[in-house]
Amino acid sequence: MPDSLRGVGVGVGVVVAPLVRMGRPPELPATQAVQDRTAEAERARKALAAVGADLAARSHEAKDATAATILDALSMIADDPELTEHVDGLIDDRTDAPHALHQAFERYREMLTEAGGYLAERASDLADIRDRAIAVALGLPMPGVPDPGHPFVLAADDLSPADTAGIDTTRVLALVTEGGGPTSHTAIVARALGLPCVVACAGVMSVPDGTVVAVDAEAGVVELGIDGERQAELRARSQLVEAQLSAATGPGRTRDGHAVALLRNIGSAADLDGAGDDLEGVGLFRTELLFLDRTEPPSFDEQRSAYAAVLRAARGRKVVVRTLDAGADKPLPFLSMAAEPNPALGVRGLRLGRRHPEVVVEQLAALAAAVADVDGAQVWVMAPMVATPDEAAWFAGRARTEGLNTVGVMVEVPAAAVRAPDVLAEVDFLSVGTNDLAQYTFAADRMEGALADLLSPWQPALLELVTRCAHAGRAAGKPVGVCGEAAADPFLAPVLAGLGITSLSMSARAVPLVHRALAARTLAECERLAEAVVAAKSADAARALATAVGTVASL
Ligand code: PEP
Ligand code: MG
Repeated sequence: MPDSLRGVGVGVGVVVAPLVRMGRPPELPATQAVQDRTAEAERARKALAAVGADLAARSHEAKDATAATILDALSMIADDPELTEHVDGLIDDRTDAPHALHQAFERYREMLTEAGGYLAERASDLADIRDRAIAVALGLPMPGVPDPGHPFVLAADDLSPADTAGIDTTRVLALVTEGGGPTSHTAIVARALGLPCVVACAGVMSVPDGTVVAVDAEAGVVELGIDGERQAELRARSQLVEAQLSAATGPGRTRDGHAVALLRNIGSAADLDGAGDDLEGVGLFRTELLFLDRTEPPSFDEQRSAYAAVLRAARGRKVVVRTLDAGADKPLPFLSMAAEPNPALGVRGLRLGRRHPEVVVEQLAALAAAVADVDGAQVWVMAPMVATPDEAAWFAGRARTEGLNTVGVMVEVPAAAVRAPDVLAEVDFLSVGTNDLAQYTFAADRMEGALADLLSPWQPALLELVTRCAHAGRAAGKPVGVCGEAAADPFLAPVLAGLGITSLSMSARAVPLVHRALAARTLAECERLAEAVVAAKSADAARALATAVGTVASL
């Protein structure tokens, strides 16, 4: 076993704990002849019962009420007598237990999909219960997030939204994945949960369960098999980081007082729970969470109340609402999108909105109604995946017709950055989505761990495009923020401020780090650093210039 593994670090902090790997979904073996039908039926029933009991126990322990309700519903599916009856019938016809389970769940899934509405939305959960039941029937560990009964570092190939929904941060202390990149779902969730994380870490799934590891998010390193002395040293460092972060409050400022608003990325009102009086606002409200996984669009009233809940939770601070960003990796069942050979380059984001203007208009109207419902609401609205000034003008026209007067667009396509002055002429502000902008600038799939180096927010070519946007903003006297994951990198914050970016939007847990890093430099220092970083020949050289000052804790 090597002494350490390297990947791409996300967030900061060091966690020392035993590593536990996430079980992989089982592969169905070849069919087996069934000799003893009673024993085979018993095997299948026991597997379903074990899955039902496990889900019920998790629901009982869940701290979050929504998570508990979901887990309860899943446990009831595993215990459903109709499902068991169907499995029994298949085994009577001499199908072995794993295949009987597989076929019965398939039939169940078809039934739910046919029923439509809420039931159809639950169909995707069945694959998870099925895989668990088959794994138990085969004598394998259940796939999904493990629960070894003590705090641990979770290792996985990669994490899906379903996996991360069930993560209990009192148990899971850090995440390490073989796949993923700095802008993948795992990285975004790790930042949101405040968990130190290393993605694109080759070899971690070969580390035996129970090995004590140190996950150093800042360095992007996982140390293996560390001794007691090293553990104590790392624990002391992590306590220092925590102490310094809790002291970093108030609005974002450079050392000499130049304001750079530190805003939040959210998916719903719940993400603002616990926000203190120093909340500066929301820089990215991803509204698609309300639409995804649904066979029918949310009604006008449902949208209106979800948006109003966010505006209330923001207590009069600015909220930048992004209209539906669907397509590619975020399909919408109710829009029946045509299959595309290359969805990331297809009809997605605003392009989809322009094909279905009724969806965009209803969303804007519901947002305008929510603004009227909430005293003192301050709303800015922006569109995703805009490539040309014409697209920006189309969106601005629709938004203003609905009475929403502060309108912007996201810069996620290189063409929009190259022609930033023309795009900005049509709207009031820009917000740079560095996750997609990196993907499209480097022709590198943002979910592909093997391309993490190209997706680094330190790539000088990416930063040059950000510079174009910032300069366009300065020339026009209009704000230009960054809301991609780059905004959450504490060492990059002074660089972005130095380029002229006016706000940085990130998950709540990233704010104190960025706050601290920004407050350590004057604006003139940020500007000098930014110039040197953009002129660097590589991402590594650029990052080295900014991190030469030490760790965030030492700033
Ligand atoms: C981005 O692309 O940088 C962004 C913020 O949008 P999302 O991550 O939701 O695609
Ligand atoms: Mg994007």
